[in-house]
Amino acid sequence: MLRTLNGLTVVQAMNDNQLLRYSRHILLPQIGIEGQQKILDSRALIIGAGGLGSPIALYLASAGVGSITICDNEEVDLTNLQRQIAHRTDSIGKKKVDSARASIVAINPEVNIVPVPERVGGARLESLVAAVDVVLDGSDNFATRHAVNRACVGSRKPLVSGAGVRFDGQIAVFDMRSPQSPCYHCLFPEHGENEDVRCAVMGVFAPMVGIVGSIQAAEALKLIAGVGEPLTGRLLILDALTMQVRTVTLQKDPACPVCGTPGRD
Ligand SMILES: [Zn+2]
Repeated sequence: MLRTLNGLTVVQAMNDNQLLRYSRHILLPQIGIEGQQKILDSRALIIGAGGLGSPIALYLASAGVGSITICDNEEVDLTNLQRQIAHRTDSIGKKKVDSARASIVAINPEVNIVPVPERVGGARLESLVAAVDVVLDGSDNFATRHAVNRACVGSRKPLVSGAGVRFDGQIAVFDMRSPQSPCYHCLFPEHGENEDVRCAVMGVFAPMVGIVGSIQAAEALKLIAGVGEPLTGRLLILDALTMQVRTVTLQKDPACPVCGTPGRD
């Protein structure tokens, strides 16, 4: 179908049902038909299908991201259900990626879901990152975060990073398409003082990870549609106990072993 948009004749790819499903995005002048089409044509990689990965996956899918790859090697257990909203009581014992896929399909069957029931790393992670437009890290450990960061730097993909434990959340965007952007390693050097705070043994305020994951989804959709001002080079820090949010500007570390040397991967 051909239609006129801003005086140009363009191919109208969306059918009537899609125009209705995504109408509240299309009504936003910053997104419109053009931005929604970019979202439909986009591919995202989500690392982790837990507290952060659940709202990320549900919002990217409901918003119409065309292809979503979800990596997680764990199965759903009862302690997950307090906050990992992509999973249901009858999903206990199933792979998280399969449970998340079932929830997504129920919301938006048009999305192509690629479940990867593995803890990915190395060449496998690099090829998954290289195949998408944006990467969202919802993992719960520094080893995975650093591996995801290295893969994103290597293939110059924007990384939307999130973390949350207790009442505290953090979100940052590292956009490796810009040489000025810091990377995750610039902020949290490997072998530094940062110890893993495992959600498995720590308390987590349920809606806090929902807020963090929702902000990650918002940043990814903004990057995909090319709207607004992403959190690139900034760290948003949320204290859900006082509900105070602050943002700090991040500096690129010229000596960073991951992103500091041009051309190095
Ligand atoms: Zn760096």
